[in-house]
Amino acid sequence: MAKEICSICGRSTGVIGRIRLAGGICICEDHTLQDQAISQFDYGALSLEDFYRHQRQLVLGTRLWERIFVPLADTILVDEKLQYFGANDTMVVSPSTGLVAFTRHWGKSIFSKTSVVASVHRLADLYSYSLGRREVRNHEGTFIIHSFTLIFHTADGIFRYSQDMKSYDECRRLAPALNYCLGLGDDGPKLPAPAPSMIQKLFGTRKLPAPPIWGDRQTLAARADKTLSAII
Ligand SMILES: [Zn+2]
Repeated sequence: MAKEICSICGRSTGVIGRIRLAGGICICEDHTLQDQAISQFDYGALSLEDFYRHQRQLVLGTRLWERIFVPLADTILVDEKLQYFGANDTMVVSPSTGLVAFTRHWGKSIFSKTSVVASVHRLADLYSYSLGRREVRNHEGTFIIHSFTLIFHTADGIFRYSQDMKSYDECRRLAPALNYCLGLGDDGPKLPAPAPSMIQKLFGTRKLPAPPIWGDRQTLAARADKTLSAII
């Protein structure tokens, strides 16, 4: 098989260890490791310029993660609590700041601050989301893996974010959270209503509150802009 030249570092890459970006652009696998990009970066759909944007966003996002999300992880204020989603809790929603972080843990310890990189975005820039499921077979039998996909309509190095979830329960938790957080109301994907115990856990009441509990996108956007302008 022919070797190709990496568009980032100019090294020659073989078939193994080669990643394709949109338009067939080729980069070597080294640029996808550790702190180079989040694990869910959608290589095939994005251009080299998007990849560079994403890398710049990671530098900023990691700073925002440390300044905003890390302190909020221990908050005792219900309104400021972070919500964690996805296998390994890689997606972290912060309704009180209007931000969402996509994290990647690497290095020796997940507890070390320096081993987390984050891509941080405004919740208000989320365009849509969907839930999915697929069957996986191995020697122990057949399993269902649930997943979610978020679509953003900003161009700061993220477009589509897909992530496996821990369980169907998490889908049930995520769908109302996104519908209500983002003011989607009944336009969001339909799922059976969460169990009262789940509603209690999510909203602190046994009755589903009227949407949207965290305001419409303008409120979320303003909240995010205020948070970001205080930091950047
Ligand atoms: Zn390279």
